[in-house]
Amino acid sequence: SERLRLDKLLAHAGFGTRSEIKKAVKAGRVYVNDQKAKDSGHIVDPDADTVTFDGELVSYRSVVYLMMNKPQGVISATEDGRERTVIDLLQPEDKLLKPFPVGRLDKDTTGLLLLTNDGQLAHELLSPKKHVDKTYEAYVLGHVTEEDQRAFEQGVALDDGYITKTAKLIIDSYEDSSDGPCSWIRLTITEGKFHQVKRMFQSVGKQVLRLNRLSMGPLELDQSLERGQYRELTEEEVEQLK
Ligand code: URA
Repeated sequence: SERLRLDKLLAHAGFGTRSEIKKAVKAGRVYVNDQKAKDSGHIVDPDADTVTFDGELVSYRSVVYLMMNKPQGVISATEDGRERTVIDLLQPEDKLLKPFPVGRLDKDTTGLLLLTNDGQLAHELLSPKKHVDKTYEAYVLGHVTEEDQRAFEQGVALDDGYITKTAKLIIDSYEDSSDGPCSWIRLTITEGKFHQVKRMFQSVGKQVLRLNRLSMGPLELDQSLERGQYRELTEEEVEQLK
């Protein structure tokens, strides 16, 4: 793997800011291969060198995979002039590795969002050839019917004329709201056109009021994550994605 400065490695591993780390090195708290480190700019090889901080072995990762339960009101981009982004929700040590969201959820959509700095994996998951399934649950204004299920299975025309690929619609329950009948549904799609779920319901005269992503390929939203919270993927989850 890549060689890098000792202070950068320690910062990535969550041991503080560069200046805090510089002090710690000066204070003799950091060892490289059982020798006291003299300089925080020392170049190390994370694979070959053993680094300890106060006697604790420092584990370094150069790739990061995070699962977030995206809240409403933040955009899934890395930077934006005015809006809060999902990256703003990350802890400083997780930002250092520069993860980016794999695909987009609308500002008002919640649920599973994968963030990684693994460009190759992101590329593969987003490739139209791969047909990675995405399952959403939605609260829809209108009475969703079996006819809608058949239409979604066969493909519907979006407002720009695009015909969607086959999609599986499950009707979970109905509810009465002050605006009229509403439906709780789950929809699995294999592509990711702009605002696809909302536009599919639009094509059958219904409006998505709430949209929450439950899964992406084999990756399922960890229901113990509150909105806005995130965690690293387990090794098993990473393997399943590859
Ligand atoms: N479809 C939508 O309409 N919005 C999303 O955020 C995701 C899928």
